[in-house]
Amino acid sequence: MVKEGNYVVIKTKNEELKGLLLKSQNPEKFVIKLTSGYNFSINKKDVVKLDIIKPEKEEKEFKKPEIQKNPKLKKVLILHTGGTIASKVDYKTGAVSPSFSNEDMLKMFPEIKDIVNIDSKFFGNIFSEDINFNHYNLLAKEIKNNLNYDGIIITHGTDTMHYTSAALSFILEDLVIPIILVGAQRSSDRGSSDSFQNLFSACQFISKSDFSGVAICMHENMNDDSCLILPGLRTRKLHTSRRDAFKAINVKPIAKVKDNSIEILNHDYPKRDRKDKNNLNLKLFEDPKIGILKTHPNMKKEEISMYSKFDGLIIEGTGLGHMPINKVDKLTLENELIFKELEKLSKKIPVVITSQCIFGRVNLNVYSTGRKLQEIGILGNLSDMTTETAFIKLAWLISNYPKDVRKMIDKDLKGEISRRTSEDFI
Ligand code: ASP
Repeated sequence: MVKEGNYVVIKTKNEELKGLLLKSQNPEKFVIKLTSGYNFSINKKDVVKLDIIKPEKEEKEFKKPEIQKNPKLKKVLILHTGGTIASKVDYKTGAVSPSFSNEDMLKMFPEIKDIVNIDSKFFGNIFSEDINFNHYNLLAKEIKNNLNYDGIIITHGTDTMHYTSAALSFILEDLVIPIILVGAQRSSDRGSSDSFQNLFSACQFISKSDFSGVAICMHENMNDDSCLILPGLRTRKLHTSRRDAFKAINVKPIAKVKDNSIEILNHDYPKRDRKDKNNLNLKLFEDPKIGILKTHPNMKKEEISMYSKFDGLIIEGTGLGHMPINKVDKLTLENELIFKELEKLSKKIPVVITSQCIFGRVNLNVYSTGRKLQEIGILGNLSDMTTETAFIKLAWLISNYPKDVRKMIDKDLKGEISRRTSEDFI
């Protein structure tokens, strides 16, 4: 019987894949770690042949190193949620449900014990594309239960790390410790992995700064020697595979970590103060139905009306926040129908416009298109939130302030909107 941890060759009609069989969240799929380091999932029904090519490695009982804690160092909890950064443990132990113990972590990253005292806890082993609002709530509760630490690092898949950082930024009210999300674009078992530098830099930042709040720590550039601390509400993944995929949008990063030192790049961040840690208030998510619709040429009115049963909609408009709503000739009759559908929808649910430009601010005051959108109640004017943060904010407002969503969505609540555009982003 094939088991997690077996090295296997899986043949489907079209391909042959070789690698380590991982734990799958979906009973209908196999997940294997390919020799390239990437994880790959295959529908079980497509598998024509499956052979075990190397017997399951015995999980060796290694001698646990005595972990000496240094009372002078800060205490950090590493909370593992899964994703590429978690993958080295699979190889090391040969097991698939990795134990993310302190010993495992220090075996992989021994230098960390000179910076902070770490404890390590398994939260889950989930690809970040599978994460939903319920996971945000569970993570927030886990954080609340561990406020005795000086900081918490969450290891996380990179695909939706910026959604999770935004969600935690909204949920955790009066947070007094740093929560740093760390991922990796290359799994830890590859020579080129970025996981060590990212994790190490997060530890450095927690040990040396007075930051409290939610941030992301990832590579600054393609050199493997510096990381940026990026604001949890203002960051986006901008590249599918580069190690420096994450960038701060419309604001400067909070800090740079290089050569054992930190350089603060933007002093406008929440500071650790002496407030009672136990005052942390959780404003959790319910399960509202929110969509994200990207504006594009040749849109059809059904693309709008299909959201009529939703609780809210984010529309990623073109440019300053536009949609094809102007009937100008006989080729543009559909646009008038789109406008009518939008008007109907925005009476029913909050509809918020963002920009697919990524950088810059929505401005519905400039063109007549924008003014028409404002007249029918489309929200989001003058905001420079990312689409992802707008999505999370809308869901969070609907969950916590259902009567005030339209009033609150365009107000800066937690630093997600800049009042003035910084000179670097004009
Ligand atoms: N798809 C993976 C995830 O987000 C990629 C990664 O871990 O970076 O979980």
